[in-house]
Amino acid sequence: VKGGPVEIGVITRKGVVDQGDYALGAAKRLLAYYNDYFGQPYPLPKMDMIAGPGSSQFFGAMENWGAIFYFEPTLLFDAARTAESGRQQVHSVVAHEMAHQWFGDLVTMGWWDDLWLNEGFASWMEGKATSVLNPTWKADAVAVAYEREGAMQLDATAATHPIIRHVQTVDEIGQAFDGITYSKGQAVIGMMESTLGEVKFRDGIRRYMAKYKYGNTVTDQLWTELSAAAGRDVTKIAHDFTLQGGVPLVTMTGARCAGGVTTVSLSQGRYGLDAPSKTAQTWHVPLVVATVGGGSTSAVVSGAQVTPVKVKGCGTVVLNRGKGSYTRVLYDEAGHSAIVRDYAKLTLEDRVGTLGDDFGLALGGYQDLTRYFAVQDRVNAGSDPLEWSVVASKLGTLTGLFD
Ligand SMILES: [Zn+2]
Repeated sequence: VKGGPVEIGVITRKGVVDQGDYALGAAKRLLAYYNDYFGQPYPLPKMDMIAGPGSSQFFGAMENWGAIFYFEPTLLFDAARTAESGRQQVHSVVAHEMAHQWFGDLVTMGWWDDLWLNEGFASWMEGKATSVLNPTWKADAVAVAYEREGAMQLDATAATHPIIRHVQTVDEIGQAFDGITYSKGQAVIGMMESTLGEVKFRDGIRRYMAKYKYGNTVTDQLWTELSAAAGRDVTKIAHDFTLQGGVPLVTMTGARCAGGVTTVSLSQGRYGLDAPSKTAQTWHVPLVVATVGGGSTSAVVSGAQVTPVKVKGCGTVVLNRGKGSYTRVLYDEAGHSAIVRDYAKLTLEDRVGTLGDDFGLALGGYQDLTRYFAVQDRVNAGSDPLEWSVVASKLGTLTGLFD
């Protein structure tokens, strides 16, 4: 098919070419979306997607510029035999590999140290594009429920490492393709977008693409362009989350409302699942603080001293609203009771994010598991299937502890 001046093709073995129809249609829509988002039209005359038989335990697809390779299950979709989740999987992989045509191919990291620039960004972009083109799939909430949780589980143990680390050997290149690079990278890119706002973040990406196309980069060059587009320096926040490992914890120690404005007391600590991961560490944690039925405000919390944050409204305080920031949040007793009471009024991202935070905080010994169960009790027959999927996975984890 034609996507503007670009010829998009699917190449398969004989007899299954019809199963490429879904990917072909998705690629056409994605190409238009990416051309606009990146501000640099795809520069090659064609983009082929090649389906190879078989599979690999190491990868599903490879983003060769203009000739993307896929194993058949990641590209071909047979509506008669494949579940709906298979269609979503094809869309995710195509969106990911096509994002690499810009992040990876048009602009390439200078060395493997910055692999996360390729993989974290492509992983985030696949969710971003999917949430725009297929909003009913709720990709943002799925990312909170699974990618963010997966990253935090890895990142909250002594085995973690910073997103950016020096690579010297071939073995280290292989090791770099891990959950920190992909899932934490995705979460940190998402955090930068939610901190700067969609438009300023996109403008920063456009500046970066325009400046470095056909060139090589290091991560700081991205922060420079994002800071320029946003009119504020985001390097300190970005460095805290990419040059050191670990998961921050924002704790609420009190809230009081006067004259229609709530003042929330917050401090920053660290979330860890083992002793080495609980040693003190400092981050500048950006997060949105909101009240149910009231206003919202962006704050940065850093260090153990209390940061007072003022937000309009006297309703239930929601920490890290939208769960856009890469942090756990711990409520005080009154704050948590209010969250349980108003659970149904939260967004789906906040509902699954609260289930994840409360379960994770119990596993780390920061609060009692009864808090998680109080939230889980609010999941009912009318809840989203994603909430039930999260509950099932948490209960599965608990069952495993007793086996
Ligand atoms: Zn990739």
